[in-house]
Amino acid sequence: RAAQSIEPALLFFSEEMNQRAKEHLRIESELRDALANNELMLYYQPKVSLRSGRIVGAEALLRWRHPVRGLVSPGVFIPVAEETGLITELGNWVVNEACRQIRQWRDANVIMPPVAVNLSARQFDRGLPQRMAAVLERYQVHPEQLMLEITESLLVRGADTVIAIMNELVAMGLALALDDFGTGYSSLAYLKKFPISTLKIDRAFVVGLPHEENDCAIARAIVTMAQQLRQEIVAEGVETLAQMNFLRELGCDQLQGYLFSQPVPAPDFERMLREGKRLAFTGR
Ligand code: C2E
Ligand code: MG
Ligand code: MG
Ligand code: MG
Repeated sequence: RAAQSIEPALLFFSEEMNQRAKEHLRIESELRDALANNELMLYYQPKVSLRSGRIVGAEALLRWRHPVRGLVSPGVFIPVAEETGLITELGNWVVNEACRQIRQWRDANVIMPPVAVNLSARQFDRGLPQRMAAVLERYQVHPEQLMLEITESLLVRGADTVIAIMNELVAMGLALALDDFGTGYSSLAYLKKFPISTLKIDRAFVVGLPHEENDCAIARAIVTMAQQLRQEIVAEGVETLAQMNFLRELGCDQLQGYLFSQPVPAPDFERMLREGKRLAFTGR
């Protein structure tokens, strides 16, 4: 056998790669089924104003209800979808489902703040504005009802084309938010070139507030400079009152995090809105 002449370490390594490739293929084919079998759903996580304590937005987050494995988190399947290109189909499903839900809420007289969807860099081609327009048209949703969250990886890629597409989206009335800010390589000065209205400070810098000096300095720098660029600032992953108070004093506009709510299914989010759930600035 040929394998006998291969070093055991190499054999082990290739076996491990083989396992990973198999796992990858399995997730890929199951994801295709998931799309066809309605196993995907959107959860909604509120964004709350640090001035009024009220819900002023939501982020739609993809969930996969696997028939055997239960709820699979996007951390597991989004990277596979990115790699295989299936993300464009998933992304289309997400935009469609978010607009369908927004329309349903409007028909039920729920007063809805803007809902943000995450876009992969792979969805960001010249056809994107047209595809967005078609979905908005299909459900008769106002573009102000929808926001798009993009990541820094997009900004480093062929800036001129990306800026042109962004400008088209903004001209249509769709606001752009920069997700996970601080984890990539873009400086705030560079950001000026892009028509982005909201910055989301990544959870990695929120977690150490208010005790980690470096995190405090980073959060302070982001908020201060974003204010000068007149961008809204949302802090991700806020879990404690101490984090909230620190961000509030800095002048951060909104928070999103377990302190207020985890991402929840649409009916639960609707209930929070109907009940007027608010962030308490004291207590707990
Ligand atoms: P993201 O866009 O930065 O979303 C925020 C993530 O932080 C969500 O994880 C959310 O559940 C989590 N989070 C929010 N508050 C807290 C908190 O207080 N503590 C902790 N520990 N976590 C918090 P989730 O839903 O697992 O999504 C992970 C990532 O998967 C997202 O990060 C996004 O990059 C990606 N993703 C999710 N849905 C989609 C989608 O529809 N399309 C694309 N392209 N990516 C998506
Ligand atoms: Mg996001
Ligand atoms: Mg984020
Ligand atoms: Mg993040």
